[in-house]
Amino acid sequence: KWDKDQFRTIAVEGIVHDLCPDLTIVHNKNIQPCRVLSRVRLQPKYSERQTILVRLNTEKATNFTYEPGDHLGVFPVNPSSVVNRIIAFMDPFERLEENIIKVETLVDGSWQQYNRLPPCTIRTALSRYLDITTPPAPTLLEQLASTAEDKCDQDRLKQLCEDVEEYESWKMFKYPSLADVLEQFPSTHVSAAFILTQIPLLQPRYYSISSAPKAKENEIHLTVSLVKFCTEDGKGPRRFGVCTSYLDSLPGHDVYCFIRSTQTFRMPTDRSLPIIMIGAGSGIAPFRSFWQQRELELKEQGNTDIKNQKMPTSFGEMVLFFGCWKSGVDTIYEYELSSLVDKGILHKVYYAFSTQPGKEKKYVQDVLKEEFQLVIRLLSESGHVYVCGNAVMANDIRKALKIILRSSQSEEEDSEEHFERLLAENRYHEDVFGV
Ligand code: FAD
Repeated sequence: KWDKDQFRTIAVEGIVHDLCPDLTIVHNKNIQPCRVLSRVRLQPKYSERQTILVRLNTEKATNFTYEPGDHLGVFPVNPSSVVNRIIAFMDPFERLEENIIKVETLVDGSWQQYNRLPPCTIRTALSRYLDITTPPAPTLLEQLASTAEDKCDQDRLKQLCEDVEEYESWKMFKYPSLADVLEQFPSTHVSAAFILTQIPLLQPRYYSISSAPKAKENEIHLTVSLVKFCTEDGKGPRRFGVCTSYLDSLPGHDVYCFIRSTQTFRMPTDRSLPIIMIGAGSGIAPFRSFWQQRELELKEQGNTDIKNQKMPTSFGEMVLFFGCWKSGVDTIYEYELSSLVDKGILHKVYYAFSTQPGKEKKYVQDVLKEEFQLVIRLLSESGHVYVCGNAVMANDIRKALKIILRSSQSEEEDSEEHFERLLAENRYHEDVFGV
């Protein structure tokens, strides 16, 4: 139950407002500003699905080193339309936008600083620090119920927070933001103290970095699949993902980011080992950092066109299995990939199309199984496997690989043991996002 007497807000004067260090303190990470240079659509305009290539400039960022395979954490900004709807629900005297406020809490009868957020305006808190778009959790609904004046609002909110099934179906159907909940239950009362202490923190979104560190000086690239969907079983209002629509907005602004190092998704240190990359959709993202890295290392050896220069290379084979919906629509980076294949930097790209008109449905694991001889050969040469995509796809790839391994089974080792050995030898790498 929300105890309004436990917290109070007070206005503070003379605070210089600097978001980056403030976010650094709140999240305890090395958060740095990166300027958005451009965002380019990678699919034709008419495509329902859209993926963008976002180029970020890292000149102003300090200690911002990364390796192919690492992630970038991005702090999004909530849409002002949702922020405005919440502010409209607050008491007029609390809405004063220029007021920088801080929270104090009552401890043993005396007011003490409550350090969850730095002093800021209510708009900054709602835009930058708090998660106002994910459907409120039952615990938050319970707090809201205790502020409702109307008995119907109280009862419905209590029902939602006590009945798990009811809550889940309401959440799945409406996917309500905090603003939607306040509008659905207009007798609830959210004070600035409530907002600053009870609304969960806005979490960073992670993206697999899509560029090699030295490919373009001071740049980080991301491959971002835009999230948009309609609520109410596809018949309700349209929703946009917070971070993806933020990254899709006009370039020129600073995005606050940090590097998350992924020790488990690194190219083999022995560059002569083969690499099998398997991805679907935006799961191709980290592989762009791999092929850029390979191209750079070849250039450093003066070898820019393996096929035509006929120069021997000590680098292992690199193949890509790429799952897409339709050819020509979802085959992002097609030109880049075919040029790399032409130069012999990539050995081959195997496409799998799941909704190609007039063609049999094929997923990336199906094509992997078709190419089992190649997979067996590259694994026998101590090759590494990299899988990137959602959890369902990653699971299907594991199954497909075990089937392939069964066909190469030796007397000493069955396919499960062989797969376990790949894991133990750190030759099977997964970068899984989404369900
Ligand atoms: P949010 O505002 O967070 O909305 C997403 C939520 O909306 C979902 O969680 C779901 O609850 C809901 N939702 C989405 N679709 C529907 C629907 N059809 N019906 C109902 N509800 C729905 N993404 C990339 O594009 N590229 C990458 O390289 C990448 N790398 C990642 C690496 C890691 C390690 C992780 C964990 C994630 C990665 N992601 C990547 C995903 C990314 O972090 C974000 O989750 C994604 O971009 C959505 O963020 P958002 O803020 O736009 O969406």
